[in-house]
Amino acid sequence: MPWVTRGLRNGVLTTRYPKRPDGYGANWRGAVSVRPDGAGRPPVTDGLCPTGAIRPGATPHGLAGGPVGGPVLDRGKCILCGRCVAERPDVFSFDSSAEVAALTRPGLVVPPTEESEAALATVRAELSRRVAALRKSVHVRHVDAGSDGSEEWEVAALLGPVYDVHRLGVFFTASPRHADLLLVTGAGCTGMAGPLLTTYEAMPDPRVVMAVGTDAISGGIVRSGDTGPGGVGEIVPVDVWVPGSPPSPFSVLHGILLAVGLLPAKRGPA
Ligand code: SF4
Repeated sequence: MPWVTRGLRNGVLTTRYPKRPDGYGANWRGAVSVRPDGAGRPPVTDGLCPTGAIRPGATPHGLAGGPVGGPVLDRGKCILCGRCVAERPDVFSFDSSAEVAALTRPGLVVPPTEESEAALATVRAELSRRVAALRKSVHVRHVDAGSDGSEEWEVAALLGPVYDVHRLGVFFTASPRHADLLLVTGAGCTGMAGPLLTTYEAMPDPRVVMAVGTDAISGGIVRSGDTGPGGVGEIVPVDVWVPGSPPSPFSVLHGILLAVGLLPAKRGPA
C-alpha cells in the first residue's frame, strides 16, 4: 500500500520528451562548443585536449556559425573531461542541450561547415526512405563492442519509468532477427568485431546502425595515436552518431528518434 500513496503523491515522473524538452541543471554537460566570439583570442595550444578532439586555429574562412580563424572541435573524439572549458572558458563552453546526435560523422564537428549541411540533406533523405516503416515501432538490439560499462547504464535507464521509451514505440530485443536498429557501444575491440558483424548480418532490412558514445565513434581515450580500435564504424556502416562519454539517456533517445526520422536533424550548438 505505501507505494500507492507514494505514487499518488509524486504524480507522473515520466518525461514528456520529445513533445516537451526537459530542463537541465546549470552544470549539465551535454557537449562542448566553440564560442562564436572565441576568434581573435590567444591561440589554443596543441596539447590542450587529451584525445586530440581540438584542432587549434584550423577554421578556414567562410564557415557558418563559427569564429573565423578559431579552433575546430570534433565531438566524436571529445570525452567531456572539461579541461578545455576550465582552461579556456573564453573559447569553449558546455552546451545545455542533450540533443547532440548527428547523421553524419562530419556533423559532429563544431563549428559546422557549409559542406556538411549539404551532405546532411542527402543522408537524411536516404535514411528517411529506408526507415519509413519504423516510425510507429522500432526494435533495438544492443551490442557492447568493448565498452567501459558507462554507456550501458545510460542505455538501461531508457527502460525505467523516467524515460519509459515503450511509450514511443521503442523496444529492446535480444534477437538480431527481430531488430531494426543496432545500437553499438564500445570502441570496437578486435574480439568483438566478428560477433558485431554477425549480429549486423543477421538483421533484416531495413537496418539502421547507431554508434553510441565517443568510444564507439572514434575509439575515444582507448585509441592512442593511430593504434587501437578506432570506433565501430571500422566494422559496420554507421547511420547515426551519438557523442558523449557516456551520452545521457536523452542523447541516446535523441539518436534513436533521429534514426527513425521522428526528429529534425540538428547541427551545431543547441
Ligand atoms: S572536454 Fe572534450 S574537447 Fe575539451 S579537452 Fe576534454 S576531451 Fe578535449
